[in-house]
Amino acid sequence: MDDRKVGVLGGGQLGRMLNEAANRYNIRVNVLDTAASPAKQISAHDGHIEGSFKEAEAVRKLAQASDVLTVEIEHVDTDMLEEVSKDVEVEPHWRTLRIIKDKFAQKKHLMDHGVAVAESRDVAGADEEAFKDVGKDFGYPYMLKSKTEAYDGRGNFVVKSEDDITKARKTLGNRPLYAERWANFRMELAVMVVKTKDGVLTFPTVETIHEDNICKLTYAPPRKVSKETAAKAQELAKKAIGAFEGKGVFGVEMFLLKDGTLLVNEIAPRPHNSGHYTIEACPLSQYDAHLRAILDLPIPELGLRLREPAIMLNILGGWTPDSHIQVAKKAVEVPNASIHLYGKGDARPGRKMGHITLTAPTMAAAEREIQPLIDAVDTQKG
Ligand code: ATP
Ligand code: MG
Ligand code: MG
Repeated sequence: MDDRKVGVLGGGQLGRMLNEAANRYNIRVNVLDTAASPAKQISAHDGHIEGSFKEAEAVRKLAQASDVLTVEIEHVDTDMLEEVSKDVEVEPHWRTLRIIKDKFAQKKHLMDHGVAVAESRDVAGADEEAFKDVGKDFGYPYMLKSKTEAYDGRGNFVVKSEDDITKARKTLGNRPLYAERWANFRMELAVMVVKTKDGVLTFPTVETIHEDNICKLTYAPPRKVSKETAAKAQELAKKAIGAFEGKGVFGVEMFLLKDGTLLVNEIAPRPHNSGHYTIEACPLSQYDAHLRAILDLPIPELGLRLREPAIMLNILGGWTPDSHIQVAKKAVEVPNASIHLYGKGDARPGRKMGHITLTAPTMAAAEREIQPLIDAVDTQKG
């Protein structure tokens, strides 16, 4: 399909599913990660780079071996990407990655471009009094967040009252912090956006359910959400991503407030958990779309439509090392369930070990069929 080689910083499950798609196109993907990483397990060629995406020398080597660099994670060294961008195309743009990897800079950027977000305040390095002032101004609870290196809620702390402040600061340690007004949401929505050389396209709006700050379920289409609201979410997601440079897919997480207002929670500059459902439920997956966007291959808009209602269930690690296998063993009995295991070895509590996507002619049928698998995940959680 394309002779250009794609280099990916990171070889986790997102890199693995990107490889699955690339293999179908005969496109070579060079992965920078450890030898046993999930992405490398399914891609046998000698172009991979061993090391960490945090090491400058390894990124240089990846750049030399590739024509286009992309990421499966935003916690990358954007100074390095700026340097290698003289010799290799970097998508999305390193400036985009630099802004998004800092959640507070990301919020400011969105606000500057007229995108609605939860009110936020910088409290990095501030004293106890400043945190109390946030409580006075935002009310309780409010959310404290690490600006950087945050994922799966690791970096968030819910401050329920003034008494929590000392504990919150201790728990988050010396990470750079900002405070966010509590979003009293009715539900969370997400939209995968595709930015191409020609413009911005979107996949359908989905409903996401988080448990303990980790995405657990995705419903496409969202339940009990009007078509108008779903369309508004797509427009907001488009506007948000239109504010950034570069090509590729982006995940946009949103809050739908009780009065119908939509706020952007955060953006991921890469394939995203809330877009896994596209593999089975849409003609083109988020991984197809990412490859095509960064390589300037055509993306017919109808390829991003929902073919059939779908539910995606994350297989999160339970208390035993084989908890994900136990869930998968139940899922192989379910005809409409597609199983994805990531090849991460032993499970650890809360770790994303795999996911299941179930599609059915109606959402009611999908809900009925996936329930025993949700129960299986919950049982493993103990
Ligand atoms: P991810 O793995 O999605 O990158 P993260 O660690 O960056 O997660 P956030 O997306 O900031 O974390 O927050 C995780 C979850 O916490 C949200 O999906 C939402 O359920 C809840 N949350 C975050 N911010 C707020 C807020 N301001 N008000 C209420 N709930 C919030
Ligand atoms: Mg995040
Ligand atoms: Mg999030």
